[in-house]
Amino acid sequence: MPRHARVVILGSGPAGYTAAIYAARANLRPLVIAGDVPGGQLTTTTDVENWPGDLPAVQGGELMARMAHHAEAMGAEIVQDVITSADLSRRPFVLAGAMGTKYLADTLIICTGATARSIGLPSEALFRGRGVSGCATCDGFFYRDQDCSVIGGGNTAVEEALFLAGMARRVHLIHRRDRLRAEPALLDRLQARVEAGQIVLHMNRTLEEVLGDEGGVTGVRLRIVGGGAETLKVTGCFVAIGHDPNTGLFTGQLEAEAGYLVTGRADPAYRMMTSVAGVFAAGDVQDAVYRQAVTSAGAGCMAALDARRFLEERLPDAAMGSSMVPA
Ligand code: FAD
Ligand code: NAP
Repeated sequence: MPRHARVVILGSGPAGYTAAIYAARANLRPLVIAGDVPGGQLTTTTDVENWPGDLPAVQGGELMARMAHHAEAMGAEIVQDVITSADLSRRPFVLAGAMGTKYLADTLIICTGATARSIGLPSEALFRGRGVSGCATCDGFFYRDQDCSVIGGGNTAVEEALFLAGMARRVHLIHRRDRLRAEPALLDRLQARVEAGQIVLHMNRTLEEVLGDEGGVTGVRLRIVGGGAETLKVTGCFVAIGHDPNTGLFTGQLEAEAGYLVTGRADPAYRMMTSVAGVFAAGDVQDAVYRQAVTSAGAGCMAALDARRFLEERLPDAAMGSSMVPA
């Protein structure tokens, strides 16, 4: 028997849970499909210092657990499943779960977020899980009192380096340009760690190869921009070079730009609607610019309000609770 809902929300990050809270409060009994990262990206970090109202910081995992509780308390149902295919040419929309469950959705809110990028080196793939990692919060503990490296120059890379500096012997932060793009508050904290000798900056360098043996990573070979190479002895290599939006399910079905789902263009009356009527998107999956927890949550709210209005205006039967397939 397929599961049917007036609003199906794909993803359980800040966008998905906020959309769920708003849709539930509109009595739409939304179904949230949590995906393979329940709680989303914030569950991979520790201190979140810019979530409004949580001073001095809230732990990422705790914040997402609170959001899940909030969504459920309002009447949303959270399902632990991963969607493996989607057919947006039929109505209701049809989604297939990894365990064989079929989901039918009168409206769909896509909040599938983004996934950490890899550099693409064969040695990076070879040592992934054996010294190469994309998550210092998850794996940093293994590098206590050892030397490790972080690749990247954005907020994530600087946060990873700061986190590791609290436990590793020394952290080498490697960036391909001469300027970091991380925000000033993080750069101030980085500067303090650099002055304390806990973090060493290696600017204008790219990762050429991860070195290692059967035991795991033993070093990284760097290419110096403009010529030359150097090797650092490290046992961990954390790659933090940004994220790609998770839109593979919708390739060829929804309009996208540089991989991000386009919203608000097909019908300006619905700011979060994609190129298919009744399909909305919110958060990192459609935002190439801000990519913050609070902006994702805000977009999730907008998408749920749009979905509610869409149901009322275009599918009044579904909005009232009757639907083509039993819930
Ligand atoms: P995500 O949080 O990426 O969630 C995506 C969800 O979609 C996941 O639950 C996943 O399981 C689900 N999903 C994906 N594919 C499928 C599928 N096929 N089927 C079902 N579900 C699926 N932002 C801040 O504002 N402050 C910070 O301090 C901060 N720190 C960060 C630290 C790190 C290390 C990282 C990586 C990011 C940080 N960010 C921070 C950015 C913030 O985490 C993101 O902007 C935010 O999580 C995006 O929310 P989202 O709901 O759009 O997507
Ligand atoms: P990002 O801002 O896109 O930064 C990616 C970094 O990796 C850039 O410095 C980039 O270099 C570098 N890079 C990209 N491709 C590379 C490659 N192939 N080889 C080497 N270096 C490469 O990504 P992010 O840091 O993951 O942040 C993503 C979003 O999450 C941002 O919006 C960020 O603000 C947000 N976030 C916020 C917080 C916070 O608020 N505290 C924390 C973490 C993340 P260039 O600089 O040369 O482009």
